[in-house]
Amino acid sequence: MKYLLIIPAALVLLIAVLLIRALSLKPTAARDAVLPEADPKRSEEYAKKLSEMVKMETVSDRDNFDVTKFYAYHKKLWELFPLVAEKLEITEIDGNLIAKWKGKTDGGAVLLMSHQDVVPEGDNWIHEPFSGEISDGVIWGRGTMDTKCSACCFLQAAEELLAEGYQPDVDIYFAGSCTEEISGDGAPKTVAWLKEQGVKLSLVLDEGGAIMDEPVGGVKGTYAMVGVLEKGYGDLKFTAKSKGGHASAPSKGTAWARLAMFIADVEKKDPFVSRFNDTSLEMFRRYTPNMDLPMRLVFANMWLFKGLLTKVIGKISPQGGAMLKTTLAFTKGKGSDGYNVLPMEAYVTGNMRFINHQPTDESIALISKIAAKYDIETEVLTAKQPSEPISYTSDAFHLVERAIGEVFPGVDTVPYIMTGGTDAKFYEEICENCLRFYPFHLNKQQHASMHAAEENISCSTLPPAVDFYKYIIKNGKDA
Ligand SMILES: [Zn+2]
Repeated sequence: MKYLLIIPAALVLLIAVLLIRALSLKPTAARDAVLPEADPKRSEEYAKKLSEMVKMETVSDRDNFDVTKFYAYHKKLWELFPLVAEKLEITEIDGNLIAKWKGKTDGGAVLLMSHQDVVPEGDNWIHEPFSGEISDGVIWGRGTMDTKCSACCFLQAAEELLAEGYQPDVDIYFAGSCTEEISGDGAPKTVAWLKEQGVKLSLVLDEGGAIMDEPVGGVKGTYAMVGVLEKGYGDLKFTAKSKGGHASAPSKGTAWARLAMFIADVEKKDPFVSRFNDTSLEMFRRYTPNMDLPMRLVFANMWLFKGLLTKVIGKISPQGGAMLKTTLAFTKGKGSDGYNVLPMEAYVTGNMRFINHQPTDESIALISKIAAKYDIETEVLTAKQPSEPISYTSDAFHLVERAIGEVFPGVDTVPYIMTGGTDAKFYEEICENCLRFYPFHLNKQQHASMHAAEENISCSTLPPAVDFYKYIIKNGKDA
């Protein structure tokens, strides 16, 4: 009889341990962080400059690339930032820009980047997409937050420091490709040029994460999300062949039927392995103190719940799930040309994002094997490996973390996994520390306005961003 009491007693003990671990984590300052009020005069001055940049339509078009609009944009930049134009060594490579600010010493250099091109405006705008309208405390228009804001603010930081006669300790580069949105060769060309010059970079800072409130449901507070790893990218084509024929008398196993079974199979039994890696574990570890209690109870006790979380996180948050595994999304498809004609051949394409523990080859082999079960051929159109994660204990990460702490007191810095792509991946050849972060405080609507209607950014987020870049420029030697 006595032994029967052991089970409830053990349960009570377990719950007590879980609770103690969760309750012992005290909320950090990020939970109630209030960002400092920006100087309205500076906000206005910078907003006007960004507005001028947004008025220059710099949509990149893969099929009809017009480099002249980028030349016009450069002219505008040098009007807005005349000291940068005068004092820095500027190189232009087919519309891509690189500006070098010579440092006092030859130690590791820092490169700040921001692509010049934007995606087409699309539909459903209320504000004119290329008017650069400033109203309600924000600047509206295509490119405001993706990503002319960062070019505006790092060039402004240089402009102000140059006016004071400042010279950085190490070389500082500013770079901007004009083909990021079309996955073009702008950044590779820039990297090739830098390699030719023998440039070695200790830090590259590109777009990626930003400063967000409650970045994950249930996590209170304000966080600077610094991308330390970019998932790999792939496009695959899955083709099913069949005899074709008239649609009035179909046989079993048509090309479409097999493709459909294949898609359903992948959807039902996701073949990719979910796993927390160092980055995702550290990200959640930093969030945990500011989670609501039920969530905190789980995340403060990863020793018990990691396995379960790995399984359910994707169901709670697709974004969260995508950080833990390779993903595949079916995107395009084509069959026969006639409503009543069975296709001899039908295909669908799949867009893949590869995680490090199942890189390109392994993930592709897995999916090809499933496709083969349905007599479907797999063709790899493009495949790029995920980047090597940058440690959150590295000097480069610490420098960015310190800059954030200096300019945005109370905000917590978290490392995170980028599920989207940036130009920074091309720089991995010449830099071990390509971090993806820009110092702008975005609300949910602003974050969602990337590549969508009503893109905008707050005027008040520009002055701290200028200060952040000044900190990086002044302390580049620490990266
Ligand atoms: Zn972008």
